[in-house]
Amino acid sequence: MKFEHSNEMPPDYERMKNEILAEFPKEKITGVDTKTVEDFIIGQGLPLKEYAVLSEEDLPKIRDIIGDSNFFHGMLEGEKFAGSYIPELQMAFVYRRGIVPLATETTGNIFLEGLLVHELGGHATSGYNDFVTTDKKHFDVPRLGLCITNHQKNNEGTMEGLMLEEGWADMQYAEYVKTSRPEKKDSLVRELGADMEKLIPFTIPEVGTIEVPVKYIYLDEEYSPNVRATSLAGYALELLCKKNPKIKPLLFEARNSVQALRDLAKEIDAIRPGLYEELQSGEYSIKSFGKKLKEVMDVCG
Ligand SMILES: [Zn+2]
Repeated sequence: MKFEHSNEMPPDYERMKNEILAEFPKEKITGVDTKTVEDFIIGQGLPLKEYAVLSEEDLPKIRDIIGDSNFFHGMLEGEKFAGSYIPELQMAFVYRRGIVPLATETTGNIFLEGLLVHELGGHATSGYNDFVTTDKKHFDVPRLGLCITNHQKNNEGTMEGLMLEEGWADMQYAEYVKTSRPEKKDSLVRELGADMEKLIPFTIPEVGTIEVPVKYIYLDEEYSPNVRATSLAGYALELLCKKNPKIKPLLFEARNSVQALRDLAKEIDAIRPGLYEELQSGEYSIKSFGKKLKEVMDVCG
């Protein structure tokens, strides 16, 4: 197989993106404070990309536009899909279905806004735009920020660096919630108080008890505090940043620079040799991210 590389978005993808933007303009988004979200991202010095907020009735149109490109990797059929950044379109999506409507009913719309920040201020800030193809029809962007979605390297199509990439994205989520929530006096503040740094204990099966700050938490359908896998990754990265202050700027730089990625690995290993490799491997699940958070809590404690 011969791989070809390009830094330009393929014209077909450009056309799909323009169709999506024309069909779902951000001016028509309701229930999400897009202005505050955009101001937050720009205020962090992060690049702002295009986005759309989708409802269930929008899906047929999206499927129609993207055809057989499989950008969403089947997630549009899943129950738990909350959001996604599609590097091939350089565009972020959040979705009102799955856990989202339940959490927005209980936690408030700030949850949906937080998810938009996760995608747009998190994953979408990846500076890698290497489009790879073998057939000049389907193109992949193999690196997304701290994560390699390199299907050529390991045939199973598994990813590396998922926990670090999800952690970076959810740190943005938590920072947004922390800075935008307290004055809103919503149900989460009512249930858990306005101190967004207060630690709440959770028991994760096969992991044990861990404590997570309020800013990473949402209320489920029973108004019980709950966490997502990405919350655990975000808090783990936050602890690493506190332990070694050189890590935080490198997390940002590594989104554009392979050298910074190497330096990041070095600084994480300075906390404990081999830690980077451990955090960089494994699946996207609450158990896998929970185990890594536990390990980080042990070495940073
Ligand atoms: Zn994510």
